[in-house]
Amino acid sequence: MKANKKKTKKETESLSNKKPETLIDKKGIRLDGRKLDELRPVKMEVGVLPNADGSAYLEQGKNKILVGVYGPKEAHPRHIAQQDRAVIQCRYHMAPFSVDERKSPAPSRRDVELSKVIREALEPAVFLEYYPKTSIQVYIEILQADGGTRCAGITTAALALADAGIPMRDLVVACAAGKADGKIIVDLMDTEDKVGDADVPVAYMPNLDAVTLLQMDGNLTVDEFETALNMAIEGSKQLYAKQKEALKLKYVAVEEVEEE
Ligand code: ADP
Repeated sequence: MKANKKKTKKETESLSNKKPETLIDKKGIRLDGRKLDELRPVKMEVGVLPNADGSAYLEQGKNKILVGVYGPKEAHPRHIAQQDRAVIQCRYHMAPFSVDERKSPAPSRRDVELSKVIREALEPAVFLEYYPKTSIQVYIEILQADGGTRCAGITTAALALADAGIPMRDLVVACAAGKADGKIIVDLMDTEDKVGDADVPVAYMPNLDAVTLLQMDGNLTVDEFETALNMAIEGSKQLYAKQKEALKLKYVAVEEVEEE
Protein backbone atom coordinates (compact mmCIF):
# COMPACT_ATOMS: atom_id res chain seq x y z
CA MET A 1 0.00 0.00 0.00
CA LYS A 2 1.19 3.46 -0.87
CA ALA A 3 1.76 5.81 2.05
CA ASN A 4 -0.84 8.60 2.19
CA LYS A 5 0.64 11.61 0.44
CA LYS A 6 -0.15 14.81 2.25
CA LYS A 7 -2.38 16.98 0.04
CA THR A 8 -1.44 20.58 -0.60
CA LYS A 9 -3.96 23.32 0.33
CA LYS A 10 -4.68 23.87 -3.36
CA GLU A 11 -5.32 20.16 -3.97
CA THR A 12 -7.62 19.94 -0.95
CA GLU A 13 -9.62 22.93 -2.18
CA SER A 14 -9.94 21.54 -5.68
CA LEU A 15 -11.05 18.11 -4.40
CA SER A 16 -13.63 19.38 -1.96
CA ASN A 17 -16.75 21.33 -2.87
CA LYS A 18 -15.36 24.35 -1.05
CA LYS A 19 -15.20 27.32 -3.37
CA PRO A 20 -11.58 28.45 -3.72
CA GLU A 21 -10.97 32.19 -3.39
CA THR A 22 -9.03 32.40 -6.64
CA LEU A 23 -8.71 29.99 -9.55
CA ILE A 24 -5.67 31.68 -11.06
CA ASP A 25 -2.82 33.23 -9.07
CA LYS A 26 -0.98 36.48 -9.83
CA LYS A 27 1.56 34.64 -12.00
CA GLY A 28 -1.22 33.21 -14.18
CA ILE A 29 -0.94 29.72 -12.68
CA ARG A 30 -4.08 27.64 -12.16
CA LEU A 31 -5.06 25.51 -9.12
CA ASP A 32 -3.42 22.40 -10.55
CA GLY A 33 -0.25 24.25 -11.57
CA ARG A 34 -1.13 24.68 -15.25
CA LYS A 35 -0.67 27.76 -17.40
CA LEU A 36 -3.76 29.34 -18.99
CA ASP A 37 -3.25 27.57 -22.33
CA GLU A 38 -1.99 24.26 -20.98
CA LEU A 39 -3.87 20.96 -21.27
CA ARG A 40 -4.02 18.41 -18.46
CA PRO A 41 -1.68 15.42 -18.81
CA VAL A 42 -3.24 12.92 -21.24
CA LYS A 43 -2.86 9.19 -21.71
CA MET A 44 -4.69 7.27 -24.44
CA GLU A 45 -4.74 3.59 -25.34
CA VAL A 46 -6.71 1.68 -27.97
CA GLY A 47 -7.85 -1.95 -28.12
CA VAL A 48 -8.13 -2.37 -24.36
CA LEU A 49 -11.32 -4.52 -24.40
CA PRO A 50 -10.87 -7.67 -26.51
CA ASN A 51 -14.60 -8.54 -26.40
CA ALA A 52 -15.69 -5.29 -28.06
CA ASP A 53 -15.24 -4.62 -31.80
CA GLY A 54 -13.31 -1.50 -30.89
CA SER A 55 -12.29 0.15 -27.64
CA ALA A 56 -10.22 2.91 -26.10
CA TYR A 57 -9.21 4.19 -22.68
CA LEU A 58 -8.28 7.75 -21.82
CA GLU A 59 -7.00 9.61 -18.80
CA GLN A 60 -7.04 13.39 -18.93
CA GLY A 61 -6.08 14.87 -15.60
CA LYS A 62 -8.28 13.01 -13.13
CA ASN A 63 -10.82 11.96 -15.80
CA LYS A 64 -10.81 8.23 -16.55
CA ILE A 65 -12.92 7.11 -19.49
CA LEU A 66 -13.48 3.75 -21.14
CA VAL A 67 -15.30 3.31 -24.47
CA GLY A 68 -16.45 0.11 -26.18
CA VAL A 69 -17.86 0.03 -29.73
CA TYR A 70 -19.89 -2.69 -31.46
CA GLY A 71 -20.96 -2.82 -35.09
CA PRO A 72 -21.94 -2.04 -37.69
CA LYS A 73 -24.56 -4.75 -37.09
CA GLU A 74 -28.26 -5.21 -37.88
CA ALA A 75 -30.15 -2.43 -36.11
CA HIS A 76 -32.30 -3.41 -33.12
CA PRO A 77 -35.06 -2.56 -32.46
CA ARG A 78 -35.82 -2.68 -36.20
CA HIS A 79 -37.77 0.61 -36.25
CA ILE A 80 -34.58 2.61 -35.54
CA ALA A 81 -33.01 1.33 -38.80
CA GLN A 82 -32.51 3.78 -41.66
CA GLN A 83 -32.82 2.49 -45.25
CA ASP A 84 -29.90 4.54 -46.57
CA ARG A 85 -27.42 4.68 -43.70
CA ALA A 86 -26.23 3.30 -40.39
CA VAL A 87 -27.41 4.85 -37.14
CA ILE A 88 -25.15 5.54 -34.19
CA GLN A 89 -26.54 4.53 -30.80
CA CYS A 90 -24.52 6.31 -28.18
CA ARG A 91 -24.66 5.90 -24.41
CA TYR A 92 -22.73 8.24 -22.13
CA HIS A 93 -22.87 6.89 -18.60
CA MET A 94 -21.29 8.11 -15.39
CA ALA A 95 -20.41 5.28 -13.03
CA PRO A 96 -21.83 5.64 -9.48
CA PHE A 97 -18.24 5.93 -8.18
CA SER A 98 -17.14 8.51 -10.77
CA VAL A 99 -17.95 11.49 -8.53
CA ASP A 100 -17.46 12.13 -4.81
CA GLU A 101 -21.19 11.83 -3.95
CA ARG A 102 -22.38 8.41 -5.17
CA LYS A 103 -24.35 8.95 -8.38
CA SER A 104 -27.41 6.82 -9.05
CA PRO A 105 -26.50 4.14 -11.62
CA ALA A 106 -29.72 4.89 -13.53
CA PRO A 107 -29.20 7.22 -16.51
CA SER A 108 -29.70 10.84 -15.41
CA ARG A 109 -31.18 13.59 -17.62
CA ARG A 110 -27.60 14.82 -18.06
CA ASP A 111 -26.46 11.35 -19.23
CA VAL A 112 -29.30 11.30 -21.80
CA GLU A 113 -28.48 14.81 -23.05
CA LEU A 114 -24.75 14.12 -23.32
CA SER A 115 -25.43 10.82 -25.16
CA LYS A 116 -27.29 12.88 -27.78
CA VAL A 117 -24.73 15.67 -28.18
CA ILE A 118 -21.85 13.18 -28.35
CA ARG A 119 -23.69 11.14 -31.00
CA GLU A 120 -24.24 14.32 -33.04
CA ALA A 121 -20.56 15.25 -32.67
CA LEU A 122 -19.44 11.85 -34.00
CA GLU A 123 -21.96 11.37 -36.84
CA PRO A 124 -20.39 13.81 -39.37
CA ALA A 125 -17.10 11.86 -39.24
CA VAL A 126 -18.47 8.37 -39.96
CA PHE A 127 -19.31 7.10 -43.48
CA LEU A 128 -22.78 6.06 -42.27
CA GLU A 129 -23.99 5.61 -45.86
CA TYR A 130 -21.70 2.56 -46.29
CA TYR A 131 -23.80 0.50 -43.89
CA PRO A 132 -27.55 0.95 -44.48
CA LYS A 133 -29.99 -0.62 -41.97
CA THR A 134 -27.26 -1.18 -39.40
CA SER A 135 -26.36 0.34 -36.08
CA ILE A 136 -23.03 1.27 -34.55
CA GLN A 137 -23.13 1.18 -30.76
CA VAL A 138 -20.86 3.43 -28.73
CA TYR A 139 -20.76 2.89 -24.95
CA ILE A 140 -18.94 5.60 -23.02
CA GLU A 141 -18.28 4.84 -19.36
CA ILE A 142 -17.04 7.66 -17.18
CA LEU A 143 -15.09 5.85 -14.47
CA GLN A 144 -13.84 9.02 -12.83
CA ALA A 145 -15.00 12.57 -13.60
CA ASP A 146 -13.21 15.87 -13.12
CA GLY A 147 -14.70 18.27 -15.67
CA GLY A 148 -14.74 18.13 -19.47
CA THR A 149 -16.01 14.56 -19.65
CA ARG A 150 -18.21 15.20 -22.71
CA CYS A 151 -15.12 16.33 -24.63
CA ALA A 152 -12.90 13.57 -23.30
CA GLY A 153 -15.73 11.09 -24.07
CA ILE A 154 -15.81 12.24 -27.72
CA THR A 155 -12.01 12.00 -28.08
CA THR A 156 -12.09 8.45 -26.64
CA ALA A 157 -15.14 7.37 -28.67
CA ALA A 158 -13.49 8.46 -31.95
CA LEU A 159 -10.47 6.31 -31.08
CA ALA A 160 -12.71 3.32 -30.30
CA LEU A 161 -14.56 3.79 -33.63
CA ALA A 162 -11.22 3.83 -35.47
CA ASP A 163 -10.13 0.73 -33.52
CA ALA A 164 -13.35 -1.02 -34.65
CA GLY A 165 -12.24 -0.38 -38.24
CA ILE A 166 -15.23 1.83 -39.02
CA PRO A 167 -14.43 4.08 -42.01
CA MET A 168 -14.27 7.74 -41.04
CA ARG A 169 -13.64 10.99 -42.92
CA ASP A 170 -11.47 12.18 -40.04
CA LEU A 171 -10.97 11.56 -36.33
CA VAL A 172 -13.06 13.70 -34.00
CA VAL A 173 -11.31 15.28 -31.07
CA ALA A 174 -12.77 17.57 -28.44
CA CYS A 175 -11.56 20.13 -25.96
CA ALA A 176 -13.20 22.86 -23.89
CA ALA A 177 -12.06 26.39 -23.20
CA GLY A 178 -13.68 28.87 -20.85
CA LYS A 179 -13.28 31.79 -18.51
CA ALA A 180 -12.15 31.91 -14.90
CA ASP A 181 -11.09 34.94 -12.85
CA GLY A 182 -11.56 37.05 -16.00
CA LYS A 183 -9.03 35.01 -18.02
CA ILE A 184 -9.61 32.65 -20.93
CA ILE A 185 -8.33 29.15 -20.12
CA VAL A 186 -8.25 25.79 -21.87
CA ASP A 187 -9.33 22.29 -20.72
CA LEU A 188 -11.22 23.22 -17.56
CA MET A 189 -11.17 20.85 -14.61
CA ASP A 190 -14.25 20.41 -12.44
CA THR A 191 -13.62 23.32 -10.01
CA GLU A 192 -12.85 25.72 -12.89
CA ASP A 193 -16.01 24.55 -14.65
CA LYS A 194 -18.20 25.00 -11.57
CA VAL A 195 -16.67 28.16 -10.06
CA GLY A 196 -15.56 29.79 -13.33
CA ASP A 197 -17.61 32.14 -15.50
CA ALA A 198 -17.98 30.19 -18.75
CA ASP A 199 -17.30 26.88 -20.48
CA VAL A 200 -17.18 26.31 -24.26
CA PRO A 201 -16.88 22.63 -25.26
CA VAL A 202 -15.79 22.17 -28.89
CA ALA A 203 -15.49 19.00 -30.99
CA TYR A 204 -13.38 19.28 -34.11
CA MET A 205 -12.25 17.28 -37.16
CA PRO A 206 -8.65 18.47 -37.61
CA ASN A 207 -8.05 17.46 -41.25
CA LEU A 208 -11.38 18.79 -42.46
CA ASP A 209 -11.09 21.86 -40.21
CA ALA A 210 -14.74 21.39 -39.24
CA VAL A 211 -16.43 21.87 -35.88
CA THR A 212 -18.97 19.14 -34.98
CA LEU A 213 -19.99 20.34 -31.50
CA LEU A 214 -20.12 23.84 -30.10
CA GLN A 215 -21.79 24.63 -26.81
CA MET A 216 -21.50 27.47 -24.36
CA ASP A 217 -22.39 27.64 -20.69
CA GLY A 218 -21.99 31.08 -19.05
CA ASN A 219 -21.30 34.54 -20.41
CA LEU A 220 -18.54 35.70 -22.78
CA THR A 221 -18.09 38.77 -24.97
CA VAL A 222 -17.72 38.17 -28.72
CA ASP A 223 -13.93 38.67 -28.48
CA GLU A 224 -13.66 36.34 -25.48
CA PHE A 225 -15.74 33.74 -27.29
CA GLU A 226 -13.43 33.88 -30.33
CA THR A 227 -10.34 33.54 -28.13
CA ALA A 228 -11.93 30.59 -26.30
CA LEU A 229 -12.94 28.89 -29.56
CA ASN A 230 -9.42 29.26 -30.99
CA MET A 231 -7.89 27.99 -27.76
CA ALA A 232 -10.20 24.94 -27.76
CA ILE A 233 -9.28 24.21 -31.40
CA GLU A 234 -5.57 24.56 -30.59
CA GLY A 235 -6.07 22.18 -27.63
CA SER A 236 -7.91 19.76 -29.93
CA LYS A 237 -4.97 19.75 -32.34
CA GLN A 238 -2.62 18.77 -29.51
CA LEU A 239 -5.00 15.98 -28.45
CA TYR A 240 -5.27 14.83 -32.08
CA ALA A 241 -1.50 14.23 -32.15
CA LYS A 242 -1.94 11.99 -29.06
CA GLN A 243 -4.84 10.13 -30.71
CA LYS A 244 -2.67 9.36 -33.73
CA GLU A 245 0.17 8.20 -31.45
CA ALA A 246 -2.20 5.84 -29.59
CA LEU A 247 -3.46 4.32 -32.85
CA LYS A 248 0.05 3.95 -34.24
CA LEU A 249 1.24 2.32 -31.03
CA LYS A 250 -1.27 -0.49 -31.46
CA TYR A 251 -1.34 -0.88 -35.24
CA VAL A 252 2.36 -0.41 -35.98
CA ALA A 253 3.07 -3.03 -33.29
CA VAL A 254 0.53 -5.41 -34.91
CA GLU A 255 2.13 -4.90 -38.33
CA GLU A 256 5.57 -5.71 -36.92
CA VAL A 257 4.27 -8.96 -35.39
CA GLU A 258 2.69 -9.92 -38.75
CA GLU A 259 5.96 -9.26 -40.61
CA GLU A 260 8.02 -11.51 -38.30
P1 ADP B 1 -18.51 18.05 -18.62
O1 ADP B 1 -18.03 16.85 -17.84
O2 ADP B 1 -18.54 17.80 -20.08
O3 ADP B 1 -17.73 19.31 -18.28
P2 ADP B 1 -20.69 19.21 -17.11
O4 ADP B 1 -20.26 20.62 -17.35
O5 ADP B 1 -22.16 18.89 -17.11
O6 ADP B 1 -20.03 18.27 -18.22
O7 ADP B 1 -20.09 18.66 -15.74
C1 ADP B 1 -18.93 19.14 -15.22
C2 ADP B 1 -18.40 18.21 -14.17
O8 ADP B 1 -19.28 18.18 -13.06
C3 ADP B 1 -18.26 16.75 -14.57
O9 ADP B 1 -17.13 16.48 -15.36
C4 ADP B 1 -18.14 16.11 -13.21
O10 ADP B 1 -16.81 16.23 -12.71
C5 ADP B 1 -19.09 16.96 -12.38
N1 ADP B 1 -20.39 16.27 -12.23
C6 ADP B 1 -21.31 16.01 -13.17
N2 ADP B 1 -22.36 15.33 -12.67
C7 ADP B 1 -22.09 15.16 -11.35
C8 ADP B 1 -22.78 14.54 -10.27
N3 ADP B 1 -23.95 13.90 -10.43
N4 ADP B 1 -22.20 14.60 -9.04
C9 ADP B 1 -21.01 15.23 -8.86
N5 ADP B 1 -20.30 15.81 -9.83
C10 ADP B 1 -20.83 15.79 -11.07
